[in-house]
Amino acid sequence: MKTIAIIGAGAAGLMAAETLSQEDVRVIVYDAMPSVGRKFLMAGKGGMNISHAEDFSVFMTRYGTRQQNLAPYLNAFTPTDLRAWLSDLGIETFVGSSGRVFPKEMKAAPLLRAWLHRLRSRGVQFSMRHRWLGWKNDDTQTLIFDTPNGEQMATADVVILALGGGSWAKLGSTGDWVSILREKGIKVETLQPSNCGFNVAWRDYFKARFAGSPVKNVSLRFEDFQQKGELMLTENGIEGGLIYAASSRIRETIFKAETATIYLDLFPDKTADELLKKLSKPRGKLSTAQFWRKQLSLDGTKSGLVREVLLVDDLNSSELVAHTLKNLPVILLSPRPIDEAISSAGGVCFDELNDDLMSEKLTGVFYAGEMLDWEAPTGGYLLTACLATGRAVGLSALKRGC
Ligand SMILES: Cc1cc2nc3c(=O)[nH]c(=O)nc-3n(C[C@H](O)[C@H](O)[C@H](O)COP(=O)(O)OP(=O)(O)OC[C@H]3O[C@@H](n4cnc5c(N)ncnc54)[C@H](O)[C@@H]3O)c2cc1C
Repeated sequence: MKTIAIIGAGAAGLMAAETLSQEDVRVIVYDAMPSVGRKFLMAGKGGMNISHAEDFSVFMTRYGTRQQNLAPYLNAFTPTDLRAWLSDLGIETFVGSSGRVFPKEMKAAPLLRAWLHRLRSRGVQFSMRHRWLGWKNDDTQTLIFDTPNGEQMATADVVILALGGGSWAKLGSTGDWVSILREKGIKVETLQPSNCGFNVAWRDYFKARFAGSPVKNVSLRFEDFQQKGELMLTENGIEGGLIYAASSRIRETIFKAETATIYLDLFPDKTADELLKKLSKPRGKLSTAQFWRKQLSLDGTKSGLVREVLLVDDLNSSELVAHTLKNLPVILLSPRPIDEAISSAGGVCFDELNDDLMSEKLTGVFYAGEMLDWEAPTGGYLLTACLATGRAVGLSALKRGC
């Protein structure tokens, strides 16, 4: 019986194991961490958004320039297939108002429990606390692991690497594999933060007063990106779903131009003229803050943002304030460190790989999940592509005569 080593017990690796476990092969899943699926569990913490139910042609556009590369795997394992697979596992899903797909219980733990139970019952073996260090010389069938009992070798007929990206290293995905693969001549695009926050040079007073405050019901404009949502102000800058959605373009602009300026519309449901009309009313004895609150119901955080970008004298200009409320510029200096990001861009380049997600430079070795060079916004797109490519490499391994 052939042995298949899967290194990485995240969504992609477990899906590869799932696919292979239905066949007559020996499947061993290795992972550096003491337990499986740590990032998968983390993704389920605030509600596991595992996929998206929008029209599939729209769904595919979320993968941007990698849409074509991922298409074969996502066509073969669509969000509908994913939901059917979950249902077969005993996990019912529902579609939220935004089209996002969640397990009914919202959490990842029951899903992971049921999944592991099924994998173990099908004979999949797990070797935890096995940090993969590379191959023994040029022999791609002999793997070297750092284990609690020292360095150990393991042999396999086929190797599946599902080592994750480079964010949240404490959950296991450290990106250490980049140098191992580059040494073997595999082209790997540098890992970059994706779905990440950005640094902003807030003034000290603003930081002290507003770090940790949400900015609700705003619209963010950056180049041709425009979306409504919510942001979070932080000590160092800005984060949250809305900024994550634009983060790949912002990151690329900063890379080329050193900074990127986003524009916030603090009143997306009102026109500048409507705001100006209200701001042109007599102020009486009210302070600026009281007047804005009375006329516009402007909360302290939004008011603070306006004060952060306008000079004190300009606060008396109704025209300038109305314009700023609709077009508040925030200069982003750099992405927050990759370790804080939800996911990472970069990874094993697709032009290195054939349709089976294998490079001719290292035959019998397949790559899946976030370690491939693609990125997508949050919304279930990340996990769907990790699962789809995990399934694909499982099938590729079988095709290789396993
Ligand atoms: C806070 C947070 C929330 C998220 N929420 C969502 C969400 O709601 N929806 C969504 O779609 N996505 C979400 N994501 C992203 C999603 O979780 C990841 O994209 C996905 O889990 C990646 O799966 P993977 O299998 O490719 O890699 P991982 O899950 O990172 O698995 C890689 C595994 O490889 C192991 N490994 C790495 N190097 C070695 C080595 N040298 N030797 C042995 N083992 C090694 C690691 O320990 C790890 O277990 C979230 C991510 C975070 C951090």
